[in-house]
Amino acid sequence: MTDPRANPEPIETASRDELSALQLERMKWSLAHAFENVPHYRKAFEARGVHPDDLKDLSDLAKFPFTVKTDLRDNYPFGMFAVPREKVVRIHASSGTTGKPTVVGYTEKDIDTWSTVMARSIRAAGGRPGDIVHVSYGYGLFTGGLGAHYGAERLGCSVVPFGGGQTERQVQLIRDFGARIIMVTPSYMFAIADEMKRQGMSVADNPLEIGIFGAEPWTEKMREEIEAATGLDAVDIFGMSEIIGPGVAQECIETKDGLHIWEDHFYPEIIDPDTGEVLPDGEFGELVITSLTKEALPMVRYRTRDLTRLKPGTARSHRRIEKITGRSDDMLIIRGVNLFPTQIEELLLQDGRLSPHYQLQVDRPGAMDELTVRVEPKTETAGDTAAVEAAGRDLRERIKTMCGVTAKIEMNEVGGVARSQGKAQRIVDNRPKG
Ligand code: AMP
Repeated sequence: MTDPRANPEPIETASRDELSALQLERMKWSLAHAFENVPHYRKAFEARGVHPDDLKDLSDLAKFPFTVKTDLRDNYPFGMFAVPREKVVRIHASSGTTGKPTVVGYTEKDIDTWSTVMARSIRAAGGRPGDIVHVSYGYGLFTGGLGAHYGAERLGCSVVPFGGGQTERQVQLIRDFGARIIMVTPSYMFAIADEMKRQGMSVADNPLEIGIFGAEPWTEKMREEIEAATGLDAVDIFGMSEIIGPGVAQECIETKDGLHIWEDHFYPEIIDPDTGEVLPDGEFGELVITSLTKEALPMVRYRTRDLTRLKPGTARSHRRIEKITGRSDDMLIIRGVNLFPTQIEELLLQDGRLSPHYQLQVDRPGAMDELTVRVEPKTETAGDTAAVEAAGRDLRERIKTMCGVTAKIEMNEVGGVARSQGKAQRIVDNRPKG
């Protein structure tokens, strides 16, 4: 008999009616739970003149106030918790580049929910009980490592909890243990792929078959590049600490067509980021998520800042989000032109001479912003000075034509662009603040 964990849960393929009925019931619970137990929500609901009982239909959610990251910071550290602190069995926190970290908490049931959606995600990515799963997401306060870890265990896999760093040893253990799946940021996967090459591991020798990549934006072009370099199937996973961690949405290996949001636990909306108005499915805007089952940290209409659109389900009945290529706060405005790092990534990877490692730097030496794109050639091209110079010139031209921005290309030696061991830092913004 096959292991039942190898098959999707019935809710993953439930009808839309069934799913909506469950969402409504859970949403009523979640709004009441937030209102009754978190002073911030009570105040915010009252200021808007709404009460959880006003939710008769899923579309009534639009009457409720948004929650933003600063609400968590303003209630630092535990003010957003809806259960007594003693019921919280785990605390994670995002470092935050400025000011206080964002703190999130989980009850035992929340950890169980998280493990369930992560196990579901790994299975949708092609994972099966018995697989060896190598986790290179960072462990610690970041939710990536432990989230992946608990999910893989729940699915019945053998987990190797490596974390980030020590790239040479990562490769050795992947080979010696015969890992079938790796969970890591796409940018760090490239450092691992480079090391595999350095150790003489060919695509045929590589035991990895599946890569579950997330925690940062990456393009379709990056997927092609990773798949060609490593021979594995690259699938996308999405999540964020405030909502639960990784495992909010996952791409299925059979379709690779965007990420199914696990709608029995997380209710998605797309809004116009300027007006806050809810947009119909299919339109591009900011993703807003309401948690439906979370006990310790219920989230009502959390503004993620991630930009995408909602599409109907395919391999699962849960709706999909289009691959996220940017956050509203990652958007650079260079001399009046809006630019996301992924646009540069897309153009850079069109050129087989250049490696996928890159970084953008913005300076303001005088009145005008200046963009520098830091790149390096692939090892195969590095010896050919003329080809390297031509690649730099071509990239500059393409950026000018496609994005409308004049950029300086800083061509580094192989290994010269800073490597990530977790989330890549794509932007170095040296402009004066404020
Ligand atoms: P954290 O709370 O530190 O896990 O960060 C969550 C943020 O990471 C999200 O709001 C996204 O901006 C980004 N992120 C996570 N997964 C993905 C993904 N698969 N694609 C694009 N961005 C992602």
